[in-house]
Amino acid sequence: MTHAGHPLFSSITDLIAMLAPLTFSALANFPCLVHGIFNRHGGISPSPYDSLNISYGGDDDPRRVKENRELIRQSLGVDILVSGQQVHGSQVHVITGKPLTDLEITGCDAFITNVAGVALLIQQADCQAIMLFDPQRQVAANIHCGWRGSVNNIIAATIRVMAEEFATDPGHLLAAISPSLGPCCAEFINYEQELPGHFHPFQVKPNYFDFWAISRCQLQETGVKPTNIFTTAICTVCDPNWFSYRREKKTGRFCSVIGVRSEKSGF
Ligand SMILES: [Zn+2]
Repeated sequence: MTHAGHPLFSSITDLIAMLAPLTFSALANFPCLVHGIFNRHGGISPSPYDSLNISYGGDDDPRRVKENRELIRQSLGVDILVSGQQVHGSQVHVITGKPLTDLEITGCDAFITNVAGVALLIQQADCQAIMLFDPQRQVAANIHCGWRGSVNNIIAATIRVMAEEFATDPGHLLAAISPSLGPCCAEFINYEQELPGHFHPFQVKPNYFDFWAISRCQLQETGVKPTNIFTTAICTVCDPNWFSYRREKKTGRFCSVIGVRSEKSGF
């Protein structure tokens, strides 16, 4: 698909220039690392997927999704995007060699890599992405974590694999929690059935829970230092700049991406 049909822009360079990914200064300090959280603006998909929808899972035209992902790839300057057909499970996938093409791996919600040019993409509409970076081992990870991921503690599962495969010391890890469902909107009417008892202290008012605090707690339980955990405090239900399943039901997905910078980019 070309950009010929777009009413305002004629080149991919124009479109990339319109993207405004959110970044964390603590992660931006590392020249070997690339990351960004892309809101719903700046893509080419029509309503209700307007406009930077990166999910093949809805009814959006896959050619448009492919083009939106291409904008993100070029914006970040990476070669390969690895994503998952996320299932709210706790499977962790390690990428140790450079794939020839983009991958969307079935049944996985967390990804780890130390391969230059490979970036890990998490698809979201209220769920958290938790981006991790080990500056000592130069290993990046990205976790899709909705409330089921919190219940499964996919955070601990991912950090355990980083320790096993790359000798990561959690005490050195940096962690960034993306825009996602905030305590203002995280109503769980059936929480007594859905959430374990040790989550109940995170109830901020009747039936509302602070899943950002739950993630910070789970990160700290593995050994991540509180001063190395960063959040945006942006609730995707409250803020219309982000896709929100709770707000819109039929909608697109935005993405958080982290990876090791491509060697050819000169860093
Ligand atoms: Zn909210």
